[in-house]
Order: sequence, then C-alpha cells, then structure tokens
Amino acid sequence: MGLTYPAPRKAKRPETPNAQAVYLDFAATAPMRPQVREGLLRLLEEPLGNASSLHQHGHRARMILEQAREDIASLLKAEVEEIIFTSGATEANNLAVLGWMRQQPKGSRVLISAVEHPSVWEAAEALTFEGYGVDVVPVDRQGRVQSDLLASLIQPQTSLISVMAVNNEVGALQPLEELKAHKRHCKLHVDAVQSGWVGWPELTGVDMLSLSAHKLGGPVGSGCLYLRQGLKLAPLLLGGSQEDHRRAGTSHVFAALGLALAMQISAQRRAQEHLQLVEQQQRLRQGILARIPRAQALVAEGSPHISSWVFEGVLAEPLLVLLDLEGISASSGSACSSHSLEPSRVVSAMGYSPAQARGLIRFSLGYATTSQEIEQLLATLPGLVERVRQRSASSAPPGKAKVGPVD
Ligand code: PMP
Repeated sequence: MGLTYPAPRKAKRPETPNAQAVYLDFAATAPMRPQVREGLLRLLEEPLGNASSLHQHGHRARMILEQAREDIASLLKAEVEEIIFTSGATEANNLAVLGWMRQQPKGSRVLISAVEHPSVWEAAEALTFEGYGVDVVPVDRQGRVQSDLLASLIQPQTSLISVMAVNNEVGALQPLEELKAHKRHCKLHVDAVQSGWVGWPELTGVDMLSLSAHKLGGPVGSGCLYLRQGLKLAPLLLGGSQEDHRRAGTSHVFAALGLALAMQISAQRRAQEHLQLVEQQQRLRQGILARIPRAQALVAEGSPHISSWVFEGVLAEPLLVLLDLEGISASSGSACSSHSLEPSRVVSAMGYSPAQARGLIRFSLGYATTSQEIEQLLATLPGLVERVRQRSASSAPPGKAKVGPVD
C-alpha cells in the first residue's frame, strides 16, 4: 500500500521547491544535515524498545538515549545529569521560566528582555496571572540589553533573569558575559537556540540554557534544557519518571540522537561555516546597500546567519509574496508570528515605528547557502522592492505623499 499525499492545488508556484529555489530562512528551520539524516535512518532500521523497559530492546534504546545525552553534555561542558530532553526549545523555555518560578514564593519576579522569543515572553506573561511579577529590560537601537540597565531592574524579589544569546528576528548578540556579572542573587536562563553559528555560551554563570535541534540541521520537535546541578524545577508534564522526574513521557530516542548529531556536526564545522557566513552576509549587505535606495540594515554586528532589513515604504508581506513567486524563501522575522500583520515586537522594542516594524524582512543563511543563492537574491530583490514601492505609491490616496518615509 502506497502512501497518498494530498493532490496538488492549482497554484502559481511549484508545490515543492525546485532545484533553483533559494532557501534563506535558516533561522526558522535549517534543512536536515545529510549526516544527521544518515544517522537517523540507521536508527530507524533498529528494532528499538521503550527506553524505560528492562528487556534488551529497551536497553538498546536507553543506551542510545544516554549516549546522546553524554555527547550533548560534553559539547556544552556540562554534566550528563544536567541535560533534560524536551520536545524543542519552546518547551525548554517554558520549563525554565514556569518550572523555576512556580517553585518560588508568590510575589517573586522574573526579569526578561524586551526581545525574547514568544516562548519566554508568553510564559512570563502567564506568570502574572499566578501571582508573580514580570519586569522587562529594554534594548537599544541594536537590539542589545545594557547590563547596567539590567542591574538597575533587579529587585530583592527577582528570582530569575531570562535573556537570549542571539535574537532570532534581527540577529542581535547579547553581551552575556557582562550580564552574568550583574545577575547578583538571581538565576540566569539563556535561550541559546540561535547561537549554533557563533558557538554556545560558556556555562559559567548560566543556570539554565535552551537548545533546539532543528535550528542546527537536526529534526524538528527535539531540544533540551541544561539545568545546573542541584537546581530543581516544577515539571510541566506529569505522569512518568523519565528525565529524572523532570519531564514525563516516553523517551524520544530518535529526537535525542538527532539533537546530539546536529550539535556534533555544527560544532565540528563551526569555524569553517562561520567564516563562510561572514563572507556571504557581507556580500549580501554590500549588494543590498549598493543596489537598493533607502534600505536599512537593522543590526550592524550580529550573528552572521541573520541579515534583517527595513526598506522604506515597503511592507513585509507583499515583498515576501513576490520573493516567493521568484522561488526565494525569506521571512518577516519570527516564523511563529509571520502569519500576522502585527508589527514585530522586537523591531518596535529597538525604537522603530510601527510602519517600520511591519516592514521587517529577514534573510537567514546557513550551512547550505551558496554564493549563487546570494547573487540570485541580489539580482531579484531591487526590482521587487521597486515594484512594491510603486504599487503602494499608486494606491496612496490623492493629495497624500506617495512613497514618503515609512514612519
Ligand atoms: N527560541 C528562539 C530564539 C527561537 O528562534 C525558536 C524557534 N523559532 C524557539 C525558541 C523555539 O524553538 P522550537 O521551534 O524548538 O520550539
């Protein structure tokens, strides 16, 4: 019996990306690395049992799970007991923020940055309905938290600080070492999901750290939380003793192996891939600035895999649709919120106007990005930006400025 897939819809674009398609959305998800795929395919051939079962099939599953944990711990320079497997970084972030705070007395506070991922932001928001307080430290025009500002917001009741290492919408790098020096009595959680291309943060001074496999070329639905030895969390999932009672549910051996493999390969190739990304981002940046008038790069020195832009007078959505029709996949920031036309919270927090925050276009590169893809984008983008500008000029109400400044 063959698998049946939905019949293709009548669409202007091909249903599946063709060989000429350009994928510039690695920050949303990185296609699986071939070496990870090979490792996972081999695992699928094995008759594995439940990793908690005592028989030989269970034992084999347990061995693979624990080997993956050991490999991840060694890459992070952590202890094996400090790694908790999760269904991804959304869960890891929820577990860190909710799991830590729910053990603290009511009235305790969590301090987060204004540019955190929704899985931290909304978890913190949920805590306000449970009797906890939330403080938000602003960022500067480059999306960075100022450490003295962070320090000034720490109160005696502040129990947790959560700041991401690399922002997923604009690529801003947080000065973690400075922030660590100011954390005082608080625990520090770091969302390190987007730091695969620059290196995972040093764990000294970090109490919790979240990772996700699919941003590194591993499978979607796999991540982990590093939790410093001796610290306890209130689990989110109940009903099993897996992960040392910290995350109930049958162990997902496939996901754990996928994360370990993706991390290993990312670490092995980091130096070379980093160099390649720096070069490509530079070419992209110079090309856009030379060919597109009134283009603004949002972050001057961020992670080399993210290049975010605002093109004056251009909303993100029409431009992304035109790019897609040309076979170029980019995004308007976070994939999790890209179905809404809301201005980006991150770009707004950096001091841009709502119109500018609706115009955020993110090109994110990765291990498989080629120079030809960058050239293809540079050849296509200026004309499309011009088309969107002309269209919005001709649809502007008479008497009003046509393509004026967006704010
Ligand atoms: N944090 C950041 C910074 C992210 O970019 C993402 C993915 N969009 C997540 C958390 C959530 O990760 P996952 O997709 O594994 O749930």
